[in-house]
Amino acid sequence: MSADTLRPRIAALADQCVMCGLCLPHCPTYALDGDETESPRGRIALARALASGTMEPTAANRLPLDHCLGCLTCERVCPSGVHYGELLTATRALLGPPPGRARALLGVLKRPRLLRALARLGATLGAPRWAPRLARRLPDDSAWRSVLVALPPLPAAPALQPSAVVATRGRVALFPGCVADVYESEAHAALERLLAAAGFEPVRLPARCCGALDRHGGTAAAGDRDADAVRAAWTAAGANTLLTATPGCLGTLREALPGVAVEDAMAFVERECSTLRFRALPLRTALHLPCTEVNVARADGAVRRLLARVPGLELLPLPAQPACCGAAGSHVLDFPRRARDLRALKLDQVQALAPQRLLSGNIGCRLHLAAGLVERGSALAVEHPLSLLARQLESP
Ligand code: SF4
Ligand code: SF4
Repeated sequence: MSADTLRPRIAALADQCVMCGLCLPHCPTYALDGDETESPRGRIALARALASGTMEPTAANRLPLDHCLGCLTCERVCPSGVHYGELLTATRALLGPPPGRARALLGVLKRPRLLRALARLGATLGAPRWAPRLARRLPDDSAWRSVLVALPPLPAAPALQPSAVVATRGRVALFPGCVADVYESEAHAALERLLAAAGFEPVRLPARCCGALDRHGGTAAAGDRDADAVRAAWTAAGANTLLTATPGCLGTLREALPGVAVEDAMAFVERECSTLRFRALPLRTALHLPCTEVNVARADGAVRRLLARVPGLELLPLPAQPACCGAAGSHVLDFPRRARDLRALKLDQVQALAPQRLLSGNIGCRLHLAAGLVERGSALAVEHPLSLLARQLESP
């Protein structure tokens, strides 16, 4: 979309806001800074001023928009129905990427084959030994430091147990994503096992970025190219439904595939796989609900209901605020200190519950939270809820 198209669209979206301020108490960055400019209302006013040309888009002026987590908690609670997510994406497309964005690093993270090859090379060179030491030598706000701390060793290839159930309920495709394809392989195998046990034929699309990293970072043209590739892969899959186990990809996939049933994996399993039975697991389990699971997938209720089907599992929900752990796509790379501040609040809440396991269904949140626990000297394991569910599945 050209600037001439974006400017009136941003103005029209900003005009939906009646400036009531009801969203402010729900915004994690407003809670962090206590500053109107770091609130949804402040950002909407700023977007309007930047789009109309009454304000110059200097690095300082645009900073509150760059700080936005895109968690969409404001959109969910807004009584006027402001389409904040669209306004944010359009304004970022107009402004372009934030100054100092770690483009080379993002280029690696977006390419799962390259990322996997580098992770293997790192393992060969003993990275688990030296990477934390190297990270400590880098500046506190370095994106490379965040990645060196957050990326764990490559997980082992999951062993897939064949299902005894004949697939009669149609083909369901799984979008594996980019970072998630490398570090969420267990959850993807778990989803395929659950689907097969319920009578579906799971197929996996080629691993690639959905485009969210570029669209949310103001590189709209690159995001459009990713969307074209997603459409081609979807058409070739011959499936009825597309699932993602990473709710952070969901909104972008839905935009790329209008008219296609693109669903959150856990919401689909909860609704369509009611015949599955799970073995008991007496375990105190803290449940972190990623903001995209709550505000985009709107699957928070479904996730709780699905996990409640595991007998004996004690689910300990975290407080709703802060609504975001700070990972927020590339926010953790663009603003590592702010991401750590938000994470500290979330981890305090987790540790106050004294759980035996932490569940989080979005790869960015899971890695970010796990890295924070390691920094605190905690051995608490963090896993995707689907991994737990597949392990507890009674053989069909
Ligand atoms: S975004 Fe919605 S809730 Fe927030 S100030 Fe505007 S109208 Fe009010
Ligand atoms: S998307 Fe999240 S961080 Fe951004 S303004 Fe809305 S509530 Fe605040």
